[in-house]
Amino acid sequence: KQQQELLIWGGPAATKDGKRVELAANIRDPREAKAAIKQGAEGIGLFRTEFLFINREQPPSEEEQFETYREVLELMEGRPVVVRTLDIGGDKPLPYLDLAQEENPFLGLRGIRLTLKYRDLFKTQLKALLRASLYGNLKIMYPMVASIEEVREAKKILEEAKNEVNKWAPVEIGIMIETPAAALSADILAREVDFFSIGTNDLTQYTLAVDRGNEEVTALYDPYHPAILRLIYTTVEAAHKFNKWVGLCGELGGEVTAAALLVGLGLDEISMSPIFIPQVKQAILHLSYEEARKLALKALELLSGQEVRELLYAGTKGY
Ligand code: PEP
Ligand code: MG
Repeated sequence: KQQQELLIWGGPAATKDGKRVELAANIRDPREAKAAIKQGAEGIGLFRTEFLFINREQPPSEEEQFETYREVLELMEGRPVVVRTLDIGGDKPLPYLDLAQEENPFLGLRGIRLTLKYRDLFKTQLKALLRASLYGNLKIMYPMVASIEEVREAKKILEEAKNEVNKWAPVEIGIMIETPAAALSADILAREVDFFSIGTNDLTQYTLAVDRGNEEVTALYDPYHPAILRLIYTTVEAAHKFNKWVGLCGELGGEVTAAALLVGLGLDEISMSPIFIPQVKQAILHLSYEEARKLALKALELLSGQEVRELLYAGTKGY
């Protein structure tokens, strides 16, 4: 029994009928990369890089960023590491950018919009990433994308960065699917990128028009809402139609209740806080993909988040 538990702990996640799902970790700094390995992560599905940019008077230098990205890539020893470029907006003070006070910062200059405006800041991060890519399996991901122009513009700046950094290895480019616009036009965006990662935290916020941090409306914040399920489904189908892989990195990914649904919807990768990896792995090892697929299709027919949750709870009884 002990040996079996060890196998469960250390081996990759797959359903009983052999469908592999990569379980990756969300991290905010190199220290968390160590926790990710301990918990059995097969890679980093979301490296949030904001910590490098906040609480300081000057932006981080290319060298400082390079060292940090290299550290994480080396710690992960060749496992995939998805680094998200700066995802910040006017709700957080960045003294060196002189950002305007916005009435609705979550609908304002944030994520890719901000880095496309502050191109030098963006290019410095991309150069540091390209240099670090020699030390592991790096993938670059852009946040808050809503249109193809943003992706094309980001790719242009990446090309410039490549021309300025003489040593770089090929890296995959992906985007977060976290605006309803991106999910609904996933078949357009899939042509421009190598992968998607669905950010259900923001996707839920923007789709349901519910501020993710507002306690007045917490009860309305429901990632199991049929609208969200449909957007995840649409995104996965579009990615696969164009032979691109698709992951999910919102908090939903760490919920055991969601495991069968997410596997059934066809996600290739699920990324979550490191502490949740063992429980989600355990849940996946008990699943049959065929049954999970049926369950997901059934969930897509339901009328409310409550009905979806009831269906899923019934299936996870026992662990
Ligand atoms: C998300 O929006 O789901 C996500 C993973 O990104 P963040 O929580 O950093 O906005
Ligand atoms: Mg987000």
